[in-house]
Amino acid sequence: MVSFSPFANALAQLKRAAKILALDNLTLNKLQTPERVLTAKIPVPLDNGTTREFVAYRVQYNDARGPFKGGIRYHPGVTEDEVKALAFWMTMKCAAVGLPLGGGKGGVVVNPKELSAGELERLSRGYVQAFYQHLGPTKDVPAPDVYTNSQIMAWMLDEYEHLVGEHAPGMITGKPLSLGGSLGRATATAQGGVYILQELMAKLERSPKNTTVAIQGFGNAGANAAKLLHQLGYKIVAVSDSQGGVYNEDGIDPRKAEAIKQAGGMLGCYCLGTVCTLEQIKTDGPCRAVSNEELLELAVDVLIPAALENQITAANADRIKAKIILELANGPTTPEADEILNKKGTLVVPDILANAGGVTVSYFEQVQNAMNYYWSEEEVSPKLKKIMVDAFAAVWGAKGKHQVDLRTAAFVLAVERVVEAMRERGESNTKKGR
Ligand code: GLU
Repeated sequence: MVSFSPFANALAQLKRAAKILALDNLTLNKLQTPERVLTAKIPVPLDNGTTREFVAYRVQYNDARGPFKGGIRYHPGVTEDEVKALAFWMTMKCAAVGLPLGGGKGGVVVNPKELSAGELERLSRGYVQAFYQHLGPTKDVPAPDVYTNSQIMAWMLDEYEHLVGEHAPGMITGKPLSLGGSLGRATATAQGGVYILQELMAKLERSPKNTTVAIQGFGNAGANAAKLLHQLGYKIVAVSDSQGGVYNEDGIDPRKAEAIKQAGGMLGCYCLGTVCTLEQIKTDGPCRAVSNEELLELAVDVLIPAALENQITAANADRIKAKIILELANGPTTPEADEILNKKGTLVVPDILANAGGVTVSYFEQVQNAMNYYWSEEEVSPKLKKIMVDAFAAVWGAKGKHQVDLRTAAFVLAVERVVEAMRERGESNTKKGR
């Protein structure tokens, strides 16, 4: 049955790993449900004098390995089911790369593009007012996610510190540098993914030159990945945002695409002011607009979904031509699609490995906050690289050992680690106070 429930998909992934680990039912059952699901309605006074309520969630999935950790998403499509899946994936992601953190996630059902800066600030402060008793550096640590950013983290930190009456920079990550953010955090998700791709390319004895890449999503993860890969000599041939995308057989300079977006233009318009040159357009040549669906099916070497869940499904998986899929988004591929892709020999580098760079530098940010001593970018980068390279090697090793795909290998490692921590705690315990 085709499932568009991200949480059902997440549980299907869990079950595959559980089977290989011969996990007992009691433990599996514990892993199938979050520790806590918090919901609230946040009243936000709007600029026009009226008040609107927004539905908000914080899901605390598992904290056996450390404080709950995970971003807050502002998106009109947010549901409880989605936030549960994202919180579960955070648990697995932190464990897959060996961070001493659990997993959580937050979300607000809102289209932030429709709010003014003031309304957005009031919503963000309202979120913290609703949940602050459950947050904190040793309890649950939010971060940015889809359509949230360092400014929103700053408002949330400020609100939290007012409520608890002390400085607590480690209660949130992805902050501005001036409030205790980490160098390298803004590009960390993309950078981590690039380190992983480079490791995979080395295994396959391929070089970036002549390797074509299509990227779905031009937010923090997608745009930074495009720039980093371009610098390394990969040929970016397609990029898109929520409005649509553009394909250029001759290659796209992502800095130009970014400039167009920053100027309020559209990536996907088949017109002047896109990444196509006038000459390419006039000759009906190698540059054209593509939809987000078309982008996924382009004949490229590497496909990078960097937007939302459920993009590669049973409906389009057999038309995907890329040999490598690097999941910078969370949950872009459904289990049904995985099956089709695995049969075809497509290498899917799973989200819990490919996009773990973001939370890894979030962890570094917390470490620096706790020390109140800050690292240079030259100190952050090799630390991130080591974690990603080691995690890739471990996942690649588990793939060979268990003769499974990369996702199942990553889940086997992650589930093993979470379960070990649960057992060490004597996890039949009642969790008092946490
Ligand atoms: N939202 C990012 C993710 O999905 C980062 C989470 C974090 O830094 O806590 O991995």
